[in-house]
Amino acid sequence: MEKRPMMGRRIVLFPLPLLGHMNPMFQLADILHAKGFSISIIHTNFNAPNPENHIGFTFHPISDGLLASEASALDPITLFHILNVKCVAPFRDCLSQMLADALEEEPIACLITDGILHFTQAVADSLKLPRLVLRTSNASSFLAIAALPLLRQKGYLAVQGTQSEVLVPELPPLKVKDIPSIRSSNPEVFYQLTTWMCKEIKASYGLIVNTFEELEDLAIAIVRRDFQIPIFAIGPFHKIVPAASSSLLAPDKSCIEWLNTQAPKSVLYVSFGSAAAVDEIEFGEIAWGLANSEQPFLWVVRPGMVRGSKGSHPLPDGLTQMISRRAYIAEWAPQEDVLAHPATGGFWTHNGWNSTLESICEGVPMICLPFFADQMANARYVTDVWNVGLRLEGKLERGEIEKTIRRLMSEKEGEEIRERAAFFKEKANLCLEEGGSSYKSLESLASHISSF
Ligand code: UDP
Repeated sequence: MEKRPMMGRRIVLFPLPLLGHMNPMFQLADILHAKGFSISIIHTNFNAPNPENHIGFTFHPISDGLLASEASALDPITLFHILNVKCVAPFRDCLSQMLADALEEEPIACLITDGILHFTQAVADSLKLPRLVLRTSNASSFLAIAALPLLRQKGYLAVQGTQSEVLVPELPPLKVKDIPSIRSSNPEVFYQLTTWMCKEIKASYGLIVNTFEELEDLAIAIVRRDFQIPIFAIGPFHKIVPAASSSLLAPDKSCIEWLNTQAPKSVLYVSFGSAAAVDEIEFGEIAWGLANSEQPFLWVVRPGMVRGSKGSHPLPDGLTQMISRRAYIAEWAPQEDVLAHPATGGFWTHNGWNSTLESICEGVPMICLPFFADQMANARYVTDVWNVGLRLEGKLERGEIEKTIRRLMSEKEGEEIRERAAFFKEKANLCLEEGGSSYKSLESLASHISSF
């Protein structure tokens, strides 16, 4: 994107310190920087970003009151809750100091924070600073989160067993099992958190979503109607700015050289993102399912991905020899480059929204294995609405895995899915061109911020 001259306005951004939230926030910062705004980042000490990766931004660390080892051991909901409590005073002090300093420097136009950090709305109000919100999930799953109090009242959240296959009439095409949920030591906090998040989004000056109209026009329209604030669907972010460099792990770039040696569309890329984990037995089933499919694959085995193991996890005995020339195992991959590589023909994913969108943008069909949060809803849209993937259902089992890989990578069904994926790839490119839906939405976001 072409860089414009500075407008003399600064934007302060505050990301949630988890990779799947930091990546899109830094991409948004880069997008707004290229639009001529100066950028300041307030960040927690936990998972602090590296300023060297973002030349031109100013960085303002605040205390989150947590030791790194303590923060990493918490379940996400408990972590979010603690951040919303412990960051209030340090965040307010930091922001008011920045506002005071700005009187002699560039004025601060607004604050943009992750939706989960809902306490920032009250702080912004008290300092009379407009706050916008970034939701790092898509519009459809956000609607499911907003509906949680209603769904709970109607008893859907207590449903178990075969009843979880039932459709939720309030949220078609979601089934009960697709309703966003996160395992936590205190589930009540999850509902409180989502309720507060939605309430404070309604009180904000606007919501920015990493999606595009052609993919989610209906859901975007409903969010606009229900929230009564400006909605800016300006995605896909990663196609507007170069790959985000906020990754907390160093990508293994050699996997690209390996991909260069593989036939077009032959490789299945397998990655479950930065947080999903499997147990020892599931790990073995995945490994043997991949091996038995006889398809080349690039598998991200992240340290700690197998529950109970801290470092890298060894492959099952006998498997390394069997797959030696057909597979590449990486601890972390340059995912956007992998998905854009001509040899990549499929993506077995956990359906985190960033991964799902990155796959859609490259026209790579998916095998869906959602774990938690919005991933189940994303997977439902992938398989039943956009028709760009297949879902692995039930217990993880090598025979089923092998069969699903073959269906996607070498059967007629897979070809049809690939064609649909190519259709959305084109739409994703078009929406960013001059006059396209996201292009226009970004223009109106920039004018909205300039009007404060
Ligand atoms: N990612 C990556 N290399 C990997 C795995 C993931 O760069 O080996 C990036 C991926 O491109 C995406 C992010 O990490 O931008 C994962 O975000 P997502 O929302 O998909 O899942 P989360 O990690 O939040 O569960």
